[in-house]
Amino acid sequence: MYLASDARYENMHYKRCGRSGIKLPMISLGLWHNFGGVDNPENGRAVLRRAFDLGVTHFDLANNYGPPYGSAEETFGQIYLKDFQPHRDELIISSKAGYDMWPGPYGNWGSRKYLVTSLNQSLKRMGLEYVDIFYHHRPDPETPLEETMSALDYIVRSGKALYAGISNYNAEQTRQAAAILRSLGTPCLIHQPNYSMVDRWVEDGLLEVLDEEGIGCIVFSPLEQGLLTDRYLAGIPADSRAARPRAFLKPDDVKAEVVEKVRRLNEIAQKREQSIAQMALAWVLRQKAVTSALVGASKPQQIEDSAAALNNLEFSKEALVEIDTILL
Ligand code: NDP
Repeated sequence: MYLASDARYENMHYKRCGRSGIKLPMISLGLWHNFGGVDNPENGRAVLRRAFDLGVTHFDLANNYGPPYGSAEETFGQIYLKDFQPHRDELIISSKAGYDMWPGPYGNWGSRKYLVTSLNQSLKRMGLEYVDIFYHHRPDPETPLEETMSALDYIVRSGKALYAGISNYNAEQTRQAAAILRSLGTPCLIHQPNYSMVDRWVEDGLLEVLDEEGIGCIVFSPLEQGLLTDRYLAGIPADSRAARPRAFLKPDDVKAEVVEKVRRLNEIAQKREQSIAQMALAWVLRQKAVTSALVGASKPQQIEDSAAALNNLEFSKEALVEIDTILL
C-alpha cells in the first residue's frame, strides 16, 4: 500500500505553462526508458513513488514507449491502479502519437485516423478515462496540418484529453499549428522539444515563438540521455543506458572527448555545490520560456538528485561563459 508523502508539495516549484491555467512541476518524469516490458516493474514503481513524493506531478508517456511498443503505458497502468488512482486529480499524465506504432498505413505520422485510434489504445493500456495532454509527436510532411490539428481539437472536445500539445515542430511549423488550433478554439498548451547544454537548436527561434504565442515548453533529454551526468566519468557502467542493447544512446556516443568535457563541467558544478545533472537541469530551466525539464530516471535516487537541481537555479555571467567555453 502506497501512502504518498504529506510533504510532497513543500519543495517542488510549479511554473505556469505558457499563458494557460496549468502549472507544471519544473522537473517532470518521462517513461520512455526503464518502464518497458523488458524492465523490472517494481523498480519503475519505486521511481514513480519517489517522484510523486517529491512533488513531481507530471508523468510523460507515448504510445510506443517500451520496448516493446505500448509496454510503458501498460506498466504505468498497472502501477497507477495500485498506487496512484486516489491521486488522479493531482496528476498531469500525457501521451503522444506520431512515430511508428503498428503495421500498415494507419499506425504512424499524423492522420486523424492514427491519432484518434492511437489515443483510444493508450487509454486502454493505461486504464485511464482521459489523458491530461495529448501530443502530436512529430510533424508529418504529407498530412495537411489542418487535419492533424483538427484531430487534436476533436480529441480535446471528446474529453479524451484535456489539452493539446505538439512535439519536435520547428519554429515556423509551431506558429502555423498554433494559429490553426487557436482558430478551432483549442489553444496549443505546450511544445515538447529536445534541449540541453549541448543541443541548443530551440534558441534559434522556437523559444521566441513559444513566448509570443503563450505556449509552454517542456524540454526532453536535458541530460542528453545521461551523457550530461556523472554516469560515464569512469567508463560505461553495465546498468547504464549506453550499455542497453536497444537504446538510442550507443556505446560509441560515449566518446573520450565528450567525457573530458563533462569532467570539466563537473568542476563548475562542484563549485555550485551541484551534481553535473543538477547543473545541466538548472541550465535549461534558466530560460524564461522553459516551463519544465523532462528527465528520465533508472533509479529513485536519480529523480531525487534531479529534483534537487531547483535548490540552485542561478548562474553568474562568468559561469555561463565558462560552460560555453567548454562546450562550444
Ligand atoms: P534524460 O536526458 O534526463 O536522460 C535520462 C537518463 O540519464 C537516465 O535514464 C539515467 O541514465 C541518467 N540520469 C537521470 N538522472 C540522473 C542523475 N540525477 N544523475 C545521474 N544520471 C542520471 O532524459 P531521457 O532521454 O530519458 O528523456 C526524458 C523523457 O523525455 C522521456 O522519458 C520521454 O518522456 C521524453 N522524450 C520525448 C521525446 C520526444 O520526441 N518528444 C524524445 C525523447 C524523450 P541511466 O539509465 O544510464 O541510469
